Amino acid sequence: MSRIRKGYEDRFRALLRQARARRLEEGVQWLVAKAGNLSARERISLAGALARVYERLAVNKRLQASPPAPASIHFLCDAGLGGLARWLRGAGYEADWQPGIEDDHLLKEARSLQATLLTTDAMLMERRLLRDRIIPVFWLPPTLSIPEQLSLVFREFGLVVRGPRCMSCGGELRRVPKEALRDRIPPKTYGWLDEFFVCRRCDKLFWHGTHWHRIMARLTDLKH
Ligand SMILES: [Zn+2]
Repeated sequence: MSRIRKGYEDRFRALLRQARARRLEEGVQWLVAKAGNLSARERISLAGALARVYERLAVNKRLQASPPAPASIHFLCDAGLGGLARWLRGAGYEADWQPGIEDDHLLKEARSLQATLLTTDAMLMERRLLRDRIIPVFWLPPTLSIPEQLSLVFREFGLVVRGPRCMSCGGELRRVPKEALRDRIPPKTYGWLDEFFVCRRCDKLFWHGTHWHRIMARLTDLKH
């Protein structure tokens, strides 16, 4: 728990600093205490309460000082964020991920790809390369669901939904007439949908089901 708490303290501090808050440490402790009260009042775990306080704070426009993302932003997700990487690709962004990657290797990859690191690991944030912002990094609370992680990254970097990339490898998708894919599409889906895509890199087949539409709609709503 203390690691999670420390991770939140760092994020609270970063948000308050962005907002040029005075008495930074008092602000951080006030937010932690607020989560403590919420946890007691609503009988939820402290981790859950910290996540809620953080979420509310992060949506506060006044605290969003990050510049708009350059078109070429490239994400590198830590070993635990494979689901987030898939959905970032689904929303049109480059996002690399390797299962079980060691921390040293992860940092090396981030440097060579000039990528922005996404991590839930508060200990990793202690590394000098991240602390000194030599590698750009964004810490996500470890308690969020994948759609919540995705929304948070979208808000933090001011992203918009773009043409989807392959969720498996990040390759470009090309639209293929469904007749040409008849033997690869499950019959029910073939009847329901008309738009099908194939990855130019790995040849995987994709279509946008209700789950995809729901998640993308949620991201689009963030803008309003
Ligand atoms: Zn692919």
